[in-house]
Amino acid sequence: MTISPLMPVYGRCEVEPVRGDGCYLYDAEGREWLDFASGIAVNLLGHGHPHLVGAIQKQAATLMHTSNLYKSPAQVSLAERLVALTFADTVFFTNSGAEALECSIKTARAYHYATGNPHKYRILTFSNAFHGRTLATISATDQEKLRKGFEPLPDWFRVLPFNDLAAAEAAIDESIGAFLVEPVQGEGGIRPATPEFLKGLRELADRHGLLLILDEVQCGVGRTGTLFAHEQYGITPDIMAIAKGIGGGFPVGACLATERAATGMVVGTHGSTYGGNPLAMAACEAVLDVVTEPAFLAHVNEMSTRLRAALEQMIPNHDDLFDHVRGMGLMLGLKLKSDSRAFVNHARSHGILTVAAGDNVVRLLPPLIIEEHHIRECVDRLSAAARAYAPAAAA
Ligand SMILES: *Cc1c(COP(=O)(O)O)cnc(C)c1O
Repeated sequence: MTISPLMPVYGRCEVEPVRGDGCYLYDAEGREWLDFASGIAVNLLGHGHPHLVGAIQKQAATLMHTSNLYKSPAQVSLAERLVALTFADTVFFTNSGAEALECSIKTARAYHYATGNPHKYRILTFSNAFHGRTLATISATDQEKLRKGFEPLPDWFRVLPFNDLAAAEAAIDESIGAFLVEPVQGEGGIRPATPEFLKGLRELADRHGLLLILDEVQCGVGRTGTLFAHEQYGITPDIMAIAKGIGGGFPVGACLATERAATGMVVGTHGSTYGGNPLAMAACEAVLDVVTEPAFLAHVNEMSTRLRAALEQMIPNHDDLFDHVRGMGLMLGLKLKSDSRAFVNHARSHGILTVAAGDNVVRLLPPLIIEEHHIRECVDRLSAAARAYAPAAAA
């Protein structure tokens, strides 16, 4: 047998973390990395945050799992909290981002079915999107690397150019029931939607009886400096998928919807064995306790301004390598003039973890609790990596 016991679907790097503390990860030999990846925008309170750890420990000892066959006071109170904090009237809890998208897609389908328009089953999505790895969510993107080997995929989606409102308008026909879009594309290369685009999609949806589904799995929960990214665009969706940051490291997601959009989601239409289990609910409550503290988002915005400025100051010293900084809040992208994956690999040996994204972007997704000294350290380590990188890049 040549296949590894662990199904070989990841090209894993050499880093082998065994312990985390705040904004740092450590391996068994005590090697340290500054973690500006946060498990891909997940550990938004860093590693080992006492309030989050305490909440999970307490809940684990009290009640870990029951079933959605029974009433769940923990789900009710978290749903009430999310409803109070957002546009939404109702929430379904999932275990992951892709599952939150599946529920969002089903909610849109069920809405049109229940309101007498079952022919409005198609959803318009946008190029370089990432919505997950399930069969439905890979069919919602045009990224070849996600689709290859799994075609034919259902034709429930039509993929259009991102930030092109005219193309979106032109694509609307009788089969279209919704738009699905990330306010800030993550995997696609930290590309924020333009205000005209997102506002325009909202207007088109209203005018044509479509639903607007936002994927805030990566950009939500304080990451961009507001609780949800769409707040900065002055619009609200009908349906929103969240995950990643909301559990702070515990696997959990949610589909949030307005009462109208959830018209079709009646008893028996959806379910999940684990979704919303008490342990997940405790983790989310703990994360929200911290993120909704009055000064928390101001801190995210202050750190964002400082990190962006520090990165921009670094660029002229390495202008053969670095191009520009983009993004919102602490969801920043450093655009390179060469392959970002190679630089991310190289930077690890200088003690900093980042994530490569599309369009040769290095994603900087630090824990939202970073302080100024982490920013200095980030720039020092990236600069050192860049200095040592130039000869390799030329070779
Ligand atoms: C990570 C991500 C997903 C998928 O989440 P999983 O928990 O990996 O299923 C979906 N959409 C966006 C924007 C993401 O970044």
